[in-house]
Amino acid sequence: MTLELSPPRFTYDLRASRVAFGPGALRDLGTELAVLGARRVFVVSTKSRLAEVPPMNELLGERFAGVFDEAVEHVPAATVVAAQSALHQADADFCLAIGGGSAIGLGKILARDAGKLLAAVPTTYSGSEMTAVWGMTDVHGKRTGRDPRVAPRIVIYDPDLTLSLSPALSGASGMNAMAHAVEAMYAANASPMALALAEESARLLAASLPRVFANPHDHDARSTALSGAHLAGRALDLAAMGLHHRICHVLGGLFGLPHARTHAAVLPYVLAYNAPAARSAMLRLARSLEAYDSVTAIMHLCRTLGVARPLSELGLRKDDIDRAADEVTASPYANPRPATKEDVRGILLAAFYGDSLT
Ligand code: NAD
Repeated sequence: MTLELSPPRFTYDLRASRVAFGPGALRDLGTELAVLGARRVFVVSTKSRLAEVPPMNELLGERFAGVFDEAVEHVPAATVVAAQSALHQADADFCLAIGGGSAIGLGKILARDAGKLLAAVPTTYSGSEMTAVWGMTDVHGKRTGRDPRVAPRIVIYDPDLTLSLSPALSGASGMNAMAHAVEAMYAANASPMALALAEESARLLAASLPRVFANPHDHDARSTALSGAHLAGRALDLAAMGLHHRICHVLGGLFGLPHARTHAAVLPYVLAYNAPAARSAMLRLARSLEAYDSVTAIMHLCRTLGVARPLSELGLRKDDIDRAADEVTASPYANPRPATKEDVRGILLAAFYGDSLT
């Protein structure tokens, strides 16, 4: 079987964003922000991440204007209000998010609503730092959207900051990145640029994550995994996400399931469902994974990384499945294979029990 030819027409925007990548890159943070003209920098993070980096007044000098260290998952509206008040008091012209997708997600909303520029220092493989996608949760559930104002102006990747990620979190976060690459490969609007990014990111992630899991202090594997996550984030930014992201979005927003671990638990089942309608993407993915069958290889990778967990273990109740399937199919989304409520129910049930696909 050969790859289908690329679509005859495509458009995409590449925003101006600077990326600085390398072990120890955090040391250049102050200089990088100065070059961009930052005068007063407001930091968004968590206590645990800030405990792992040098003090902010050391890193930022006089530019350090204040900090909000209570970012939590899914960017709750109440957290946004508290952070906005701290930002206002700090009178800053730049926001800096340090942490995983939760801290970066909060930084995005703050920067957008206050008209500030955003810098990001990611410490997980979520890829959020490379996208113009925002998310926020309130009583109505999780809302997401795309807005160029939330995309960081600069991203500093220091793989040393990921050394503290446990094997379990590394595996889950790495499969979150893999899910971006997979869905970009079968997105109807994927340009040759998005496909190239997705294919290389999947290759880097598949090659490095088992090594990270086996030895979390393997610096080379950490760097490779983070560079794969970086490319996957860019691929996510350039392509519409499909059924997998829709399902995870509903499970996180409505039922509070943990973001990365849910991605890892759901991906093999959506991939198995979409495979017959996405032959070219499956071939591309198999090439990246150096495997014959993509679904088997992804399931195997999840098992190797210890993240092939049933959704029942992640907090989903069987009674929630009907409501989740309703919500997933309530509005249209892009996917190579249409899915009815019954189809989604079937996928969720299989993932709920952790059915074997191989
Ligand atoms: P997270 O930021 O919530 O981090 C998960 C846990 O890991 C937290 O307890 C955190 O304190 C800890 N942690 C972070 N970095 C660590 C490190 N280096 N060492 C040890 N512990 C560390 O989780 P996440 O998976 O990075 O991000 C999830 C959030 O990001 C969700 O809200 C999701 O919707 C969002 N997201 C957004 C996009 C986007 O493009 N907008 C993309 C992916 C994810």
